[in-house]
Amino acid sequence: MVLIDCGFSLKQLELRLSRINVNPLEIDGIFITHHHLDHAKSARRASEKWDAILHCSPETAIRMGWAPISECRTFGNVERIQISDEMSLLPIPIPHDDSDNVAVIATNGDGHRAAIVTDLGEATHELKRHLSGCSHISIEANYDDERLMTGPYPHSLKRRISGRGGHLSNLQTAEILQDIMNPKLQSIVLCHLSEKNNAPHLAESEVLMHIGEDYSGTISISTQDGPEFTIRVGELKNKDVRIRL
Ligand SMILES: [Zn+2]
Ligand SMILES: [Zn+2]
Repeated sequence: MVLIDCGFSLKQLELRLSRINVNPLEIDGIFITHHHLDHAKSARRASEKWDAILHCSPETAIRMGWAPISECRTFGNVERIQISDEMSLLPIPIPHDDSDNVAVIATNGDGHRAAIVTDLGEATHELKRHLSGCSHISIEANYDDERLMTGPYPHSLKRRISGRGGHLSNLQTAEILQDIMNPKLQSIVLCHLSEKNNAPHLAESEVLMHIGEDYSGTISISTQDGPEFTIRVGELKNKDVRIRL
């Protein structure tokens, strides 16, 4: 089992894992997408306490002050990481201000793939190519354009969030999903929604407007209080890729 990102306090994380009956000691690896604290804060301590291997890029290790080999295992972009016999992860570089961020494609070896994509200003061609073969996609829908622009944030922050290295708007996410739509895709989870600049119904309706006619799978929203549900990708017992949000 692998945990992707570790931004809550250790106590909060253990509480949330217990809600979905996961014993943290079952976690084999912790994969950190980038050094921002909402993704990385308690990763090193969790890795130590649960005896789970911490995986991150060399840049993230430097930014977090984690020592390679003794505290973390570093990976290169698009270098497959074998987490267990059943599961591997592929990191795909994505543009996000002042960080070495990656999206993650998880595969269980039987052809089913699941993607987790957060914190990016826009989708690269390479990312879209990988997304187009996935059965499950968790992707950020961070802000609604109008709410961000008329909201309380200072002008410079608005510019950063909506810039090429910021976050995806509902519209951008909807357009990406429209672009990569294919019959394999069965479930979509919209995540990393801003509490100030977005609302679940805005994100969902924007996405539905773009893919509603071509997509028959599920769309769910992951809120900040989660985890609320489990999504299984793949059929084989004990070999499915489980995404808990
Ligand atoms: Zn983030
Ligand atoms: Zn970030």
